[in-house]
Amino acid sequence: MDDLSRLCIHTATTKPWSIEIAVEQFARAGVPGITVWRDAIANRDPKRVGAMIRDAGLSTVSLCRGGFFPALDVDGRKRAIADNLRAIDEAEAIGAPLIVLVCGADPGQPLERSRDQIVEGIRTVAARAREAGVRLAIEPLHPMYADAKSAVNTMQSANDLCDRINEPNVGVAVDVYHIWWDPNAMAEISRCAAAGRLYAFHVCDWRTPTRDFLLDRGLMGDGCIDIPGFRRAVEQGGFDGFIEVEVFSTQYWSMDQSVYLERIIDAYKTHV
Ligand code: ZN
Repeated sequence: MDDLSRLCIHTATTKPWSIEIAVEQFARAGVPGITVWRDAIANRDPKRVGAMIRDAGLSTVSLCRGGFFPALDVDGRKRAIADNLRAIDEAEAIGAPLIVLVCGADPGQPLERSRDQIVEGIRTVAARAREAGVRLAIEPLHPMYADAKSAVNTMQSANDLCDRINEPNVGVAVDVYHIWWDPNAMAEISRCAAAGRLYAFHVCDWRTPTRDFLLDRGLMGDGCIDIPGFRRAVEQGGFDGFIEVEVFSTQYWSMDQSVYLERIIDAYKTHV
């Protein structure tokens, strides 16, 4: 596969670069899509960042991230709602059609209660997102993050939550890193696509051994995930959007990022 027309790179993948440099470098390399980490636009005017991205000829694929709805106390849940409303404002200003949700979990309560609070939180902000022209994608996270990062850990769970929330702008982000191990993943991808809820597709790889739970993701081809198999599954469901490279890796962040960008493009062409 030689065509880069569907390649998107998450700014966290090339974290050492400011958003300005990332936009310039992605454009120069022919990468047409960018997902913007909220940290990357801290202290910047999101409207101006959005204009800069468009002027460079790139598309903003999503804003990352909202979520973290569960909390033991009401105040904590209210703060989460306020932060998600801010994320929606930012997405609208930057021109991002999608916010990826890392839904959250509170280790002080059962996962089921965290899931109820996630449903409640997403329901509370969904109408405002719709008015802003923004879709919300629940990203199921690998179960190693179930304690504090997300109580939604499988495609089935994400689909079930979407059914409960039942809003036309709430769907799912499929990230191979989180779901590759799940024997039901393919069936649940089909279910998600059939419901018109497959909003995003993220790729990277699972290293053996994984040396750090958070910051040791592999580049496509470094690990054991059947990425082409997942790509086939989402495309069979009708997904034709951007394929987003999202690699959190201290190892790759320590490299010369220009050399790394070439490796990302090469890995995309060879292993996706
Ligand atoms: Zn992801």
